[in-house]
Amino acid sequence: MIIDLRSDTVTKPTPEMLQVMMNAKVGDDVFGEDPSINELERMTAELFGKEAGIYCPTGTMTNQIAIKNHTQPMDEVIVEKSNHVYYYESGGIAYHSLSSVRLINGDRGRIKPSDIEENINPDNIHHPKTKLVVIENTANRGGGCYYLLNEMKALSDTAHKNNLKIHLDGARIFNCLVEINVAPNEIGPLFDSVSVCLSKGLGCPVGSVLLGNKDFISSARKYRKVFGGGMRQAGFLAAAGIYALKNNIQRLKEDHKRAKSISEILLKTGWIESLMPVDTNILIFKLKPAYKAEILVEKLKDNSVFCFAIGGNSIRMVTHLDFSDEMLNKLSDVITKINW
Ligand SMILES: *Cc1c(COP(=O)(O)O)cnc(C)c1O
Repeated sequence: MIIDLRSDTVTKPTPEMLQVMMNAKVGDDVFGEDPSINELERMTAELFGKEAGIYCPTGTMTNQIAIKNHTQPMDEVIVEKSNHVYYYESGGIAYHSLSSVRLINGDRGRIKPSDIEENINPDNIHHPKTKLVVIENTANRGGGCYYLLNEMKALSDTAHKNNLKIHLDGARIFNCLVEINVAPNEIGPLFDSVSVCLSKGLGCPVGSVLLGNKDFISSARKYRKVFGGGMRQAGFLAAAGIYALKNNIQRLKEDHKRAKSISEILLKTGWIESLMPVDTNILIFKLKPAYKAEILVEKLKDNSVFCFAIGGNSIRMVTHLDFSDEMLNKLSDVITKINW
């Protein structure tokens, strides 16, 4: 039995999802003729209370298209320093949008309204024009922590009061929403654009949807084309997304429960220095200096358990659709018997 906790991107389609994919109605999406993609875009937009949506191959593409769409060259984007759009997208903001970033030192990947207010540039020829705020919910490098509804509202109000746009990188937004018990259409309207990943906790093989108003999404179609993301009969993939939105949201709570169970197992060992609070499906823990993260990763691998060392003698584990209670039992066994 292989236990892969490197990421929630490692899931494979279930037989039920594959069946739906095989039976999908498809067409040429560059011509706007793929019924499954059209349905996925409509359904996701409706779910979040947004006017329109566009299906893209990756969450990096939906984020980068959103930023490109909201900015002009020489603008500036306010973003927390560990957030994906800055930290994990290969400098895409500089490359695609010719914009600079104002990095915020946040709390586990989250920012406050005052961070926005204190980092807006004066409007004169010396400064890039502050145009956009990006937030990430849940925050990946923050160990899957999230913003509450009132916190999202406050950030949205502050951005809009200052004539800024605000984009939500919602790669794991459903992990947040099931925890805070808030409907997607309560948060969608707070943001000018929202990126939702289907290939993380929702268990699809591919895909993200970018949401916004009609004008925003129609120019996003042009950017998707120039980014090389216009796909043809991709409805086979979009069908997985439709299936996931219908079936795989509420079950995310199980992933969160199993992540908490792993944290309890870890805390009983003698080699953990600290563990970030486990708020959703991500665990980040640090080993005592006498124990090395890289060595633990190797020892786990010898027992068919896969996870990543992420620097600072820390390890990340992520629970997901393909991590079962049976695997949790085996993992408990492996962790308890680790021999240094
Ligand atoms: C995974 C992820 C993305 C998108 O990643 P892709 O691999 O390009 O789909 C965006 N933001 C966050 C926070 C992520 O974790």
